Amino acid sequence: MPVRQITCHVAECDVCEQRLIVDDGELRLDTPELAADWAVSSEWTDLGGGRLACTASDAAHDSARDAVLSAV
Ligand SMILES: [Zn+2]
Repeated sequence: MPVRQITCHVAECDVCEQRLIVDDGELRLDTPELAADWAVSSEWTDLGGGRLACTASDAAHDSARDAVLSAV
């Protein structure tokens, strides 16, 4: 059986480096855009510049999200 290297993309929180988990598994996708779309549809926040914040609620995450909201 041949062995082949594949490239996949996961959404990772810019604040805590948690990766997006869907159905108990890390969600791996073909493109960074798909990974970001999944993250946003999973209630993650798009911080801009390709950065994402997960749904955790603590001071670090709240201030990251507030920075986006205040920039709008
Ligand atoms: Zn996080």
